[in-house]
Amino acid sequence: MVKIAHNPCTLSGKDGSKFILMQLPEDTYMHKGQRRRLLDELRGLGIKDERVLDAMDRVPRHFFLDSAFAQFAYSNKAFPIAAGQTISQPHTVAKQSELLGARPGQNILEIGTGSGYQCAVLCALGYKVHSIERQKALFDAAGPLLRAMGWKPSLYYGDGYKGKPVFAPFDGIIITCGAPEIPQALLGQLAVGGRMVIPVGDGEAQRMWTIDRVGDREFTKKDHGVAAFVPMLAARARD
Ligand code: SAH
Repeated sequence: MVKIAHNPCTLSGKDGSKFILMQLPEDTYMHKGQRRRLLDELRGLGIKDERVLDAMDRVPRHFFLDSAFAQFAYSNKAFPIAAGQTISQPHTVAKQSELLGARPGQNILEIGTGSGYQCAVLCALGYKVHSIERQKALFDAAGPLLRAMGWKPSLYYGDGYKGKPVFAPFDGIIITCGAPEIPQALLGQLAVGGRMVIPVGDGEAQRMWTIDRVGDREFTKKDHGVAAFVPMLAARARD
């Protein structure tokens, strides 16, 4: 059994149980105020789905950032996280969540857990979330943090290109890294009536696409403009 207490390390209890000791930062009135201002900024940038904005209001972004950047957590910017990766820009998280257009209780697959921030927002939207990360250090950090915050996604250390066939079909698939092309295995794991949100393109600049599965072998796609993500890379990173 895993219990959460307060301090950043792991201890074993007398009965062999593991205690993950996780000290969450405080979520002060200052943070809450900054968060509200960020949400207004996102409304100004065209985000309309109040469910998404409400979910983002309930997830303190500064919990997911290195303390050096925590003071900038509520600016609309991407920041470096471990393993040379980035936490997505708040506008990107809002836009991808809005485009996903899922309903509470639906089965959602995220590729690229990263810091866990987008994953927490999907949990706050009421989705049943599965998330895959290829960097072990990020996978190891995201689980204890999300559990300490009370979210219960299923997290996997693996290659997102393969998806999670055992839990398919997914009502939504959200890819938070730039894919050189649309991964065919993931299309096959999308439910009929489901939607994939994916930045596609080589290098630093991609375009955001939604792909709807409208029939067993029928898909429709829509372009949602320019996007900039770290690349989707093949296979798990070596430990
Ligand atoms: N959703 C994250 C964004 C992290 S950046 C957040 O909110 O912080 C994108 C992440 O995708 C990186 O952590 C990177 O390691 C991961 N990634 C890249 N290729 C992948 C793959 N094939 N499978 C799983 N994760 C991958």
